[in-house]
Amino acid sequence: KEHHGHEPEFLQAAKEILYSLTPVFEKKPEYMKASLLERIVEPERVVKFRVSWEDDSGKIQVNRGYRVQFSSAIGPYKGGLRFHPSVNESIVKFLGFEQIFKNSLTGQPIGGAKGGADFDPKGKSDAEIMRFCQAFMTELHKYIGPDVDVPAGDIGVGSREIGFLFGQYNRIRGAYEPGVITGKLPRFGGSLARKEATGYGTVYFVQEMLKEKGLTFEDASVVVSGTGNVSTYAIEKAQQLGAKVIACSDSDGYIFDPDGIDLSVVKDIKEMRSGRIKEYVDSRPNATYKESCKGIWSIPCDIALPCATQNEIDEESAKLLIENGLKAVGEGANMPSTLQAIQAFLANDILFAPAKAANAGGVAVSALEMAQNSMRIFWTFEEVDEKLHDIMKSIYENSKNAAKEFGHDGNLLIGANIAGFLKVADAMIAQGII
Ligand code: NDP
Repeated sequence: KEHHGHEPEFLQAAKEILYSLTPVFEKKPEYMKASLLERIVEPERVVKFRVSWEDDSGKIQVNRGYRVQFSSAIGPYKGGLRFHPSVNESIVKFLGFEQIFKNSLTGQPIGGAKGGADFDPKGKSDAEIMRFCQAFMTELHKYIGPDVDVPAGDIGVGSREIGFLFGQYNRIRGAYEPGVITGKLPRFGGSLARKEATGYGTVYFVQEMLKEKGLTFEDASVVVSGTGNVSTYAIEKAQQLGAKVIACSDSDGYIFDPDGIDLSVVKDIKEMRSGRIKEYVDSRPNATYKESCKGIWSIPCDIALPCATQNEIDEESAKLLIENGLKAVGEGANMPSTLQAIQAFLANDILFAPAKAANAGGVAVSALEMAQNSMRIFWTFEEVDEKLHDIMKSIYENSKNAAKEFGHDGNLLIGANIAGFLKVADAMIAQGII
């Protein structure tokens, strides 16, 4: 805490993980002896850099870029880039720290990293986005590579930004290295089903968790926050499994549709026109729109899928959801529930799928994209989706089994942290003092 007191999000993430690792250290004192905790909370490298670029009016703008390379114990650094005004070192560190364990859970050989910039893509022209991405990559390229560090997208970084970043990397390197970044469009080295992977994966994970209690998505009422990449495909998969998704949101407000969300309208607004979710009510007269995205958690539902951003469910929202008959939560976003909200869910026997495990489908398919790039082959959508489904099932099994083995049967939060940690810890011990 001494060193990280000014980094509240990182402290919150570290506290959650370190607390759940207590049973491991009790059972395996050799990990304590190897000072694994002290080592793992310290990133291997943090890069912070100036990004200067020219806007459409000819004015020079300056932003701050970051890359936190947290752990390479089990593979090259891997984690997304976030472009959002709220990005700072604490946020990038919290995301990078979580990524170590998430990537380990996927069962694939990838280390943990995260990066981004305090740049706001909203309202910028395509040309401005391109100039920003080129300026960002002009510095970042020094620290990444297919066997070193492989970035991807996150909030504010979709396939358009990935395309510009990739183009600039290749231009600087004078080579074509598709393995340097994931989330590319399939026409130049991207994987089919990557766009769907995080949302689908979250629903696959929750499906396994519900199965354990004899429950399913069929006819369940579901609330999904956000209307970005993760939310859209969580809604799609939940609907395919027979759920009635009744609400979704953006950072301004939320819509409630008692007839069930019409996803084609949402996709038209958000993916085709980059519009605001309040426009939904123009085509669906029974739906209502309310300002304030937090209000979405006042809607009674069986399953809540927070897929927008960190700390979007606080204790008050969690208690409201529970009072209204909630049965399960599946975290599609990273750290969407505060520690107090998680405690409220667990204390009330709500089934809880933690982000680290539930949203690992995105990075798992990113690793499949790396594999396809290395082998110069291209799998079909169905092949990738089937692999994703199998990976999510095995993440669920591993998290469940680790929780049981370490005396916390049924607690997937503790189980996911332990299962993710053990693989990295064993690798660190086997590789000496690294
Ligand atoms: P997008 O940028 O595509 O979408 C984010 C969505 O959340 C948008 O609807 C946005 O609304 C909304 N949002 C953003 N900030 C806030 C806020 N402060 N309050 C309420 N709503 C907000 O991002 P992704 O879907 O890619 O990512 C969402 C979450 O999932 C993040 O936590 C990310 O780290 C995590 N994640 C993403 C993965 C991926 O593959 N994309 C993989 C694993 C985790 P608006 O349009 O108004 O900005």
